[in-house]
Amino acid sequence: MSASTDRSEDLFRRARAVTPGGVNSPVRAFNAVGGDPRFIRSARGAWLTDVDGNEYVDLICSWGPMLLGHAHPEVQATVAEAVSRGTSYGAPTEPEVELAEEIVARTPVDSVRFVSSGTEATMSAIRLARGFTGRDLVVKFAGCYHGHVDALLASAGSGLATLAVPGTPGVPESATALTIVLPYHDREAVTAAFVEHGDRIACLVTEAAPGNMGVVAPEPGFNEFLARTCAEHGALFVSDEVMTGFRASRQGQWGLDGAVEGWRPDLMTFGKVMGGGFPAAAFGGRADVMARLAPEGPVYQAGTLSGNPIATTAGLTTLRLADDGVYEHLTKAGETIKAAATDALAAAGVPHVVQATGTMFSVFFTDSPVRDFADASRQDTAAFAAFFRAMLDRGVYLPPSAYEAWFLSAAHDDRAVQTVLDALPAAARAAAE
Ligand code: PLP
Repeated sequence: MSASTDRSEDLFRRARAVTPGGVNSPVRAFNAVGGDPRFIRSARGAWLTDVDGNEYVDLICSWGPMLLGHAHPEVQATVAEAVSRGTSYGAPTEPEVELAEEIVARTPVDSVRFVSSGTEATMSAIRLARGFTGRDLVVKFAGCYHGHVDALLASAGSGLATLAVPGTPGVPESATALTIVLPYHDREAVTAAFVEHGDRIACLVTEAAPGNMGVVAPEPGFNEFLARTCAEHGALFVSDEVMTGFRASRQGQWGLDGAVEGWRPDLMTFGKVMGGGFPAAAFGGRADVMARLAPEGPVYQAGTLSGNPIATTAGLTTLRLADDGVYEHLTKAGETIKAAATDALAAAGVPHVVQATGTMFSVFFTDSPVRDFADASRQDTAAFAAFFRAMLDRGVYLPPSAYEAWFLSAAHDDRAVQTVLDALPAAARAAAE
C-alpha cells in the first residue's frame, strides 16, 4: 500500500473551506481518533480505494447499507437499467410496490411508507404515533440514536421519568419537553415513567438492538417487556430497525426476539440495507395505525423523492439477493474477526469486551459488559484512537469512533478477513501504549 495521503489531505483542505468540518456527516470526520479522513474514489466488494490509490478493507460498509459489498454486479445492472428509464417521476412505480411487498414478507409490518432517510422514518413514525393516540409524550433511551430528529436529540433531565433537555444547540426546549429519556435496560425506570405519565405517552421508541453506542444486545425479554408495557398503557411500541433491519438477521433484530417470543412492534422503522446504498428508508406497522396516514387518514406525511425508483430498485435487488447464505457468511466472518480481536487485545493486555446481536458486533474498549450508555461511556477512547490509527495504517478502515458497530458484507472473503487478522496484533499493541 502506498503511504501517501497527499490527495486526501488536499481534498480535506478544500472541503473544509466550503463545508463545515470538511464532511457532510460528522461521523465521517476523524475528530475522535485524530488525523484526516481518507477521500474515497471507488469501492468494490469488501475494499475501498482512496484518491491516493491506497486500499482498505472496509469495516464501515457505508454505516451498514452495503450488505452485499460494494458495486455488486446485479445491483449495478438493475440500477443501470432503471436509470436508463429515467430517475424520478413523482408518480407511483412498480419497484416501490415490489420492495414494500418484500419488506412486508420479511417483517411483521402490514404496510410501509417509503421516505429517504432513517431520520425521516423515525420522525414520521413519531408523528403517526401521536396522531393515532392523540397523545404527546415520547419515551426513548439514552445512547439510542434515531437520526437527527429534534425531539429525539434529547438528553436525560435531572431525574428519572422527568422530561428531557436538548442534546444539541438549535433544538428548542419546547421540542424536547415532550421527550422522556431513560437508561437502556432499566425496567424500573420504564415502569416508573409509565406510572407517572402513562396516559400522555404516545409511544416508546427504541433501537431494536442498540448499535449507536456500540452493539448492545437487548437482554432476553426486554423488547417484549417494552411492547407489553406500551400495550398496557395504550401507547405504541416503535422499534427502530434502521440499522439492525435485514442485517442482524434476515428478519432484523425482530427475527431474533419478536419472531421467537411471539410479539410484534406497533410501528417499525427501516433504512440502510433496504436502500442498497441509495437514499431509501421506510416506516411501517399495524394496519389500523398505518391507515391513519395521509391520503388514507388525516396524519400528513410526504416526500418529493420518497420511493425513488432507482433507490427502491437497488434495495429490492439487495433484499432479493440477501438469502440465508449471506447471513451465514456474515456470521462466520464475524466469528473469525471477533475471536482474533479478542486474542490480540488480550495478548496486549488491553481491556475490551466484544458484544454482538445476530450478525452485528462491536468491540468496546472497557473491561466489563456494556448494558447501557453509562457503561459504554467508560471506554478508553484514547486506546481506541491508537488502535484505529494502527488498523488504518495496515489497510483496515474501521468506523472512526469507539461507539460504533464494525460492519461486514457478503463480499468480505478470506483475503479481506485475513487482512483484518494480520493488522490486529500490532493495532492491539498500539492501543496498549
Ligand atoms: N435510526 C438508527 C437506529 C440509525 O442507526 C440511524 C443512522 O445511523 C438513523 C435512525 C438515522 O438514519 P439516517 O442517517 O439515514 O437519517
